[in-house]
Amino acid sequence: MSTVTESVTIALTRGRILKETLPLLREAGIEPLEDMSRSRKLKFATSLDQVSLLVMRGSDVPVYVENGAADMGVAGKDMLLEYGGEGLYEPLDLGIARCRLMIAAPREVPASSARLRVATKFTGIAKRWFAEQGRQVELIKLNGALEIAPAMGLADAIVDIVDTGNTLRANGLEPRETIAEISSRVIVNKASMKIKSQLIRAILERLAASVNRRAS
Ligand code: AMP
Repeated sequence: MSTVTESVTIALTRGRILKETLPLLREAGIEPLEDMSRSRKLKFATSLDQVSLLVMRGSDVPVYVENGAADMGVAGKDMLLEYGGEGLYEPLDLGIARCRLMIAAPREVPASSARLRVATKFTGIAKRWFAEQGRQVELIKLNGALEIAPAMGLADAIVDIVDTGNTLRANGLEPRETIAEISSRVIVNKASMKIKSQLIRAILERLAASVNRRAS
């Protein structure tokens, strides 16, 4: 792929995003040499000598990439909005793991409740969203068990990822507002983009071609 002896590390988000990223990487000629879902290892060699893969939680991907511990990464836009990194390029939307970041509330809570208590994992995004609208809210940080928070009296509303809406419905909640349309993005460390531009651009072109083939 490159005549220069550059090497690139790509940090991937484990779980649903990994499952949808691997076929795109394979089409781009990058295939892990062992089954990533069965191994407890965090770093994997690939069919391309110059490229290795890391696997981690989505919230850690921008940290690795911004600090140059990985050159590139794949993470959900929700994680990138929450992280808010300045030291990152975001050159490619992979169009996978699509969902919405939404405000949801129990059917009986009025839309304009004066001072909402909002439970969320995404406190950074929620803080900005409500501040931009001049709405007073009390944010409650949770790492899971979000959808049950209103029924248990912990919050009036939640900010969470919604795909089919089944989880909301099953917990007596309804979608109220969309904060952002989410999909997985490729991110690149700014210094790596300069220093390893030949290899990184080649990977981005191949990935973009895989994405375009899917879309057409
Ligand atoms: P659903 O019931 O289909 O609306 O899915 C909602 C649940 O699945 C939420 O608890 C989300 O955290 C999770 N979820 C759905 N899509 C994604 C995605 N693309 N990335 C991360 N989590 C997701």
